[in-house]
Amino acid sequence: MSGLIDQMELSRERLATLLRSTGTEEDELFERSASVKQAYLGHIVYLRGLIELSNICEKDCFYCGIRHSNRELNRYRLTHKEVLDAIRFAHQKGFGSVAIQSGERSSPAFIRGIDKIVRDAQKITGGEIGITLSCGEQTEETYRRWFESGAERYLLRIETSSEKLYKRLHPADEKHSYARRIRAVEALRKTGYQTGSGVMIGLPFQSEEDLADDLLFMREMDIDMCGMGPYLEHAATPLWEERHLLLPLSDRLSLSLRMVALLRILMPDINIAATTALQAIDKEGREAAIRIGANVLMPNITPARYREDYFLYENKPLSARDDEEELGYLDARLQAIGHRIGYHRKGNSLRYKKRTGREQ
Ligand code: SAM
Repeated sequence: MSGLIDQMELSRERLATLLRSTGTEEDELFERSASVKQAYLGHIVYLRGLIELSNICEKDCFYCGIRHSNRELNRYRLTHKEVLDAIRFAHQKGFGSVAIQSGERSSPAFIRGIDKIVRDAQKITGGEIGITLSCGEQTEETYRRWFESGAERYLLRIETSSEKLYKRLHPADEKHSYARRIRAVEALRKTGYQTGSGVMIGLPFQSEEDLADDLLFMREMDIDMCGMGPYLEHAATPLWEERHLLLPLSDRLSLSLRMVALLRILMPDINIAATTALQAIDKEGREAAIRIGANVLMPNITPARYREDYFLYENKPLSARDDEEELGYLDARLQAIGHRIGYHRKGNSLRYKKRTGREQ
């Protein structure tokens, strides 16, 4: 393999150049990232069953379809039983873990509700299922409470590492503060979670240099896992007005793949998810990401009747297959690209094990 793409040489300028790469230079990048993944993680893909707990949100992010001000949406919250049924399904099917994602809320009832889900999930699976939470910014005390109840991982995207860009994407108030979001990621790490973060790719006003900074930021924060994917516009959001600035969808997909590849080279032992937004652009987008560096897939196991209300962006994939058929389909697709699913394995981040010495 050519030494042209060496981790040590990946300065901001070099990263930005590689993010613009096409043709043989891009091929070489993908070959390199695939071989780094193979050397560190092999060809196993871990499953996280994604449960979209609720689309009720206190925030008003300019890009997000479930933002508080969007009145064109049926708001829902799964019942406790619905969540546990989904967790039971994941456990029976050999998913090593579930990811519970929700619009952001801070009420004591919401916090208690999550706590109870985490505890009961441990009980019904005998502690065999790993739990990732992605429920936004919370106080340190809340993060600690959920961790002590058994949540092992937390995913909180910083969305962009550029404070300037962050401010263009969010209202100017305390609830949408860049500094607060970064402090929240730090608090998660301090609490002991396997900590995940990530960004959106192909946002209006975002340059390749911004994305290069995002990659370096994730390395600097020493995250354990990453979920990043293309920004996709949504008609009922303020950012829709800026859609004339966007790259075509196919370019946003290839840019996202180059981001995944570069992150894999920069951080060889972290978990990287092939995100749903990739699939929204191309039905094989997630497989493409797996091939060149991602090692986690998040099949949606939310009860089907709620899925279209968790409407973050246009073209959100809604499979016609039921969850069981979907799993068989994914399994076959992954085998076709020389990968296999790590059934019954939590798939903890290797990075986390190395930095803490803990299995979990
Ligand atoms: N409220 C939690 C939080 O803030 O982390 C989790 C839910 S939030 C809907 C999950 C992620 O969806 C966000 O971190 C954001 O990156 C992504 N998202 C929202 N709108 C999007 C869009 N239009 N295109 C792509 N991703 C989007």
